[in-house]
Amino acid sequence: MNLDRKLQILADAAKYDASCASSGAAKKDSRGGKGVGSTGGAGICHSYTPDGRCISLLKVLLTNVCLYDCHYCINRRSSNVQRALFTPDEVVKLTLDFYKRNYIEGLFLSSGIVRSADYTMELVIEVARRLREEHHFRGYIHLKTIPEASPELIEKAGRYADRISINIELPTQASLDRFAPEKNLANTQGAMGGIRTRIDEVADARKEFRQIQNRPRVKPPTFATSQSTQMIVGADDSSDSVVLGRADELYRDYKLKRVYYSGFSPIPEPSVILPLKAPPLIREHRLYQADWLLRFYGFDVKELLPKENPNLDLEIDPKLSWAIRNRQFFPVDINRAPQEMLWRIPGIGVRNVSRILAARRYVNLKLTDLLRMRVSLKKVLPFIIAADHTPSFGLLESDQLRTQFLAKPKQLELDFSAPAPTNADQIITLNGQL
Ligand code: SF4
Repeated sequence: MNLDRKLQILADAAKYDASCASSGAAKKDSRGGKGVGSTGGAGICHSYTPDGRCISLLKVLLTNVCLYDCHYCINRRSSNVQRALFTPDEVVKLTLDFYKRNYIEGLFLSSGIVRSADYTMELVIEVARRLREEHHFRGYIHLKTIPEASPELIEKAGRYADRISINIELPTQASLDRFAPEKNLANTQGAMGGIRTRIDEVADARKEFRQIQNRPRVKPPTFATSQSTQMIVGADDSSDSVVLGRADELYRDYKLKRVYYSGFSPIPEPSVILPLKAPPLIREHRLYQADWLLRFYGFDVKELLPKENPNLDLEIDPKLSWAIRNRQFFPVDINRAPQEMLWRIPGIGVRNVSRILAARRYVNLKLTDLLRMRVSLKKVLPFIIAADHTPSFGLLESDQLRTQFLAKPKQLELDFSAPAPTNADQIITLNGQL
């Protein structure tokens, strides 16, 4: 099989992994001389480096051969797909060629498990080692590691990578038992713990090294600066509260940089235990919003998802939903309230809270000041007091409060471009009705 075909298969197989923050990009293809620019076919995607820059990556699998049989995965052992395997040299060559042509700034490398977890990890590490040591590649490298691989190999992978990640895939062991029988939550968390310890040790060693005045020639150790993971949403029946609860635990216990939520996408020839339909895209979006609230706005999971509401409201964002359920905390006076309370006002983000705190030292803020900060007044008016605004008591108490934030219902349109039903279709429909 030639390199081009391998690249097609293994870049396509990698697109289901969201943990490099690139999934969801529409596939565009300029091959064949039509148009310019291509995000499809060659496996080039976008991601964010630890310092926040957006960069292009070559996103591929080393192989889509896999010993495991995770039901939600197109590369699972029992899946009927064409298989391919890169040699480390081929991935190195592709990365360097693309890099020199300025197509990419780094590599995201994952893999199915071939022969054993350790054997696969060794191949993945070999790619990174050759890039770093033989070709002095200074670009970004994100390696996906396998929790069952030995800790020494995971440690070695971290030496060459800027970021490493292990996919937790599903939030509970019960779901893993059903959908990914070879995977074990304790193993995954154990590996994440090992990576965390190593990241902290190396950060401390480098800090100490910087403080030495006459630094020795020997350089301090290097290791990836962050780790991330991915959770699949909608393949099992875990509620949003279970998903976010697990994410919260990972952030606290292993200081993960990001948890990516990937809505389960139906795959060709799916396993019979999978749902037939993908979850609505908005669920993934709401999970990211809630995740943001956990990390930057001081919310906890139980506040966003109390027992009686274990799933996020798909129609309004999670902060607005919390505010509507907790109206006793509002209205909040933007000229006096502490930072923690300002963070909780729907429609006001962390950056605007900082601007409010800075500005109110000099002036009593009015609505026009909020407008200047590009705050949506429609969203905040019921929840705030400003120098020239107090919401009417009735508005905050009203049963209609939630309704006023809902998107306007749309008239359904008939699709006249759809082919007319055949007689057979009509007979089936009629029989169905009868
Ligand atoms: S181990 Fe990874 S590649 Fe293999 S079947 Fe499971 S999810 Fe797919």
